[in-house]
Amino acid sequence: MEDAKPKDWKELAIMFDKKEALNELKKISNLLVAEDVSMARSSNFRLGGSADVYIRPLTEDAFVAAIQMIRREAWPLTVLGRATNVLISDHGIRGVVCQLSPDLADIVVEGEIMTASAGARLSDIAARAAAESLGGLAFSSGIPGSVGGAVVMNAGAYTGKMEDVVVRTKYIDGEGEVRFLEKDDHDFHYRGSFFNDHKDHFVINSSFQLKSTPAKDIYDEMADLSLRRYQSQPLNYPSGGSAFKRPPGNYAGKLITDAGLKGFWNGHAGVSGKHAGFIIQDGKSSASEVLEVFRIVQERVYKQFDVMLYPEVKFIGDWQEELPQRDSE
Ligand SMILES: Cc1cc2nc3c(=O)[nH]c(=O)nc-3n(C[C@H](O)[C@H](O)[C@H](O)COP(=O)(O)OP(=O)(O)OC[C@H]3O[C@@H](n4cnc5c(N)ncnc54)[C@H](O)[C@@H]3O)c2cc1C
Repeated sequence: MEDAKPKDWKELAIMFDKKEALNELKKISNLLVAEDVSMARSSNFRLGGSADVYIRPLTEDAFVAAIQMIRREAWPLTVLGRATNVLISDHGIRGVVCQLSPDLADIVVEGEIMTASAGARLSDIAARAAAESLGGLAFSSGIPGSVGGAVVMNAGAYTGKMEDVVVRTKYIDGEGEVRFLEKDDHDFHYRGSFFNDHKDHFVINSSFQLKSTPAKDIYDEMADLSLRRYQSQPLNYPSGGSAFKRPPGNYAGKLITDAGLKGFWNGHAGVSGKHAGFIIQDGKSSASEVLEVFRIVQERVYKQFDVMLYPEVKFIGDWQEELPQRDSE
């Protein structure tokens, strides 16, 4: 018999019944549900059209219940943390967007182990660790993302990365089952993890092994990293952080600078003049205009240096344009 299941998200999106989804999701307690919510308000790029259905779980149980329902009904689903590493299409996101931050943000400390829910801000877990004289998370204090997004991306900066501290992750799998991943099973690699190969699995919370450290040392480290970040990054412009992954043996920012693109603008979007690794917008850009900058940079660097820059930023939603080339991840 022919398989009656839809084959891809576009097919799912066509079949998606917004009213039914809204009605059903509203039955789950501790779940905020809204329709046609502009994603520009809640993404760091300050860009993007509307989510058909937008939900925010207030508890882990509500998150699990929502994912199980969405799976059962085969509704298209996008899970976001703080949306600091994504560029969302001007045409919005079809189906259900589940944004975990800022609500799903419990932080529990037991001895030298901290467990934080997926929506907890990295700045909050770093501050809590410092307050408890626990070292290991200072590196994360200036990264604007959430725990879930950081585990997926193996986020890191200066003195550390998630793989140095994560010992356990609770997640929900593609069948809607709650499972645990132990330290060595996270398959952490540069800006990626197990979750990049399992895009239908979602982080519920993660536990970190920290180390008793004098609070003053931690605060000094955080202050130093914060200064370095402030001096080197265009923090006053909306962006998605580093636009491209580091190519082997090189730096994206250096190649972009050498290609003469540092400070280059294409309308309201461009390459930062402060740090060429950042693609930014001036507040009046569209997501398409930003995408065009990604494409121009990728093509120019490839043409000039024969090096392909792959985006670190993820392109989310209903893109009608062709996206810049990605690596296998
Ligand atoms: C100014 C600036 C500076 C930055 N500096 C750094 C830096 O120094 N180092 C660094 O590594 N990154 C940096 N970033 C990028 C970004 O903050 C990190 O990658 C961060 O960890 C992403 O977290 P998020 O919650 O914003 O994820 P999102 O952008 O919301 O999502 C990123 C990806 O993870 C997925 N995802 C999110 N939550 C979950 C979940 N619970 N389960 C499964 N999948 C999920 C999303 O679907 C998406 O594919 C920076 C960004 C900005 C804007």
